[in-house]
Amino acid sequence: MAATVTTTAGLAGSTTRTAARLADGRELIYFDRGEAPAGRDAADLRPLDAAAPSSEVRLDPLTGAWVTVAAHRQVRTYHPPADQCPLCPSRDGRLSEIPAADYQVAVFENRFPSLAGNPATHPVQPTSGDPLHTTRPGTGRCEVVCFTADHSASFADLDEDRARLVLDAWTDRTAELSALEGVRQVYCFENRGPEIGVTLAHPHGQIYALPFTTPRTARMIEQAARHRAATGRNLFEDLVAAERADGERVVLAGEHWTAFVPFAARWPYEVHLHPHRRVPDLTGLDEDERAELPGVYLELLRRFDRLFGDAERHVPAPYISAWHQAPTVDGGELALHLELFTVRRTADKLKYLAGTESGMEAFMNDVAPEDAARRLREVATTTGGEQQ
Ligand SMILES: [Zn+2]
Repeated sequence: MAATVTTTAGLAGSTTRTAARLADGRELIYFDRGEAPAGRDAADLRPLDAAAPSSEVRLDPLTGAWVTVAAHRQVRTYHPPADQCPLCPSRDGRLSEIPAADYQVAVFENRFPSLAGNPATHPVQPTSGDPLHTTRPGTGRCEVVCFTADHSASFADLDEDRARLVLDAWTDRTAELSALEGVRQVYCFENRGPEIGVTLAHPHGQIYALPFTTPRTARMIEQAARHRAATGRNLFEDLVAAERADGERVVLAGEHWTAFVPFAARWPYEVHLHPHRRVPDLTGLDEDERAELPGVYLELLRRFDRLFGDAERHVPAPYISAWHQAPTVDGGELALHLELFTVRRTADKLKYLAGTESGMEAFMNDVAPEDAARRLREVATTTGGEQQ
């Protein structure tokens, strides 16, 4: 396997990126602080058949939202025992998705992707002339981001340097995937905990390069266009300025980032993290913003663990962490931000998406956003840091 080592412009000066191929042709990229250690060219020795996943996206004529249909995913790995984890490094004679015997941050193409295929070889135009049954190939890319080789860690356990390396990986992938033909939006996210439906315990996130703009993003862009028409200003800039001026829902504020519970939070504990300067996506952040983000983000995750984790049983809080980035087409008003929420209402109660939420997309939240913000301020780390 030939490995290609590059230092990526715009990332931390000391981040090295090594690209390689797995046995079935999928791409694997190692991200290392400083020079890449030996072994990044380790070959994938597994007898894998060439990957040929396929899926399609169908347009829901009732809502205008695209739905991805990927039936092949039913065979994917489901809750493997720890000694068969496909995200641990390959060592002691056991072969995994990552051929190296150790790694810092590794990104690879998902073996069971919801979206796959090069739009250059697939028609991107709808394949049906019938407006009620519009389909397109589910082109795009799904990647897995392994945050650490330590199987039992979680993101909140990382130090700031490792969190920064993950940020560099997210930024690199956003730049590269956005440039692929047919990709409309790059979505970096982490699902944490079996309560969310996570099927692999190893600390990891995912990146989807989507061939359409997601419904929530599309609605935000519509709202931003209305706000622009009414005020001449950007919705996200006004929102961040208003929350910072008011302060009641602010959870944590640094020099370049502010986290707050949104005024109309959908989830009992939901935090939105914005850079003070509006940028469309992670590639737009400057070095000062990049340097501050790891500390702010780790502090938010640790507060979630303090409120909703179970330290005695080493069970961290379940959460979804979602980076909202502007689509590559018509995304000009959308501001990069992170939406972080837990599915817990209290330390031992889950919020289920039931009749109103799943049936009607109408959220019913039984925790006042102002109370949620106060609780999240009360569990701040008390030594050092940026918290107010
Ligand atoms: Zn593992």
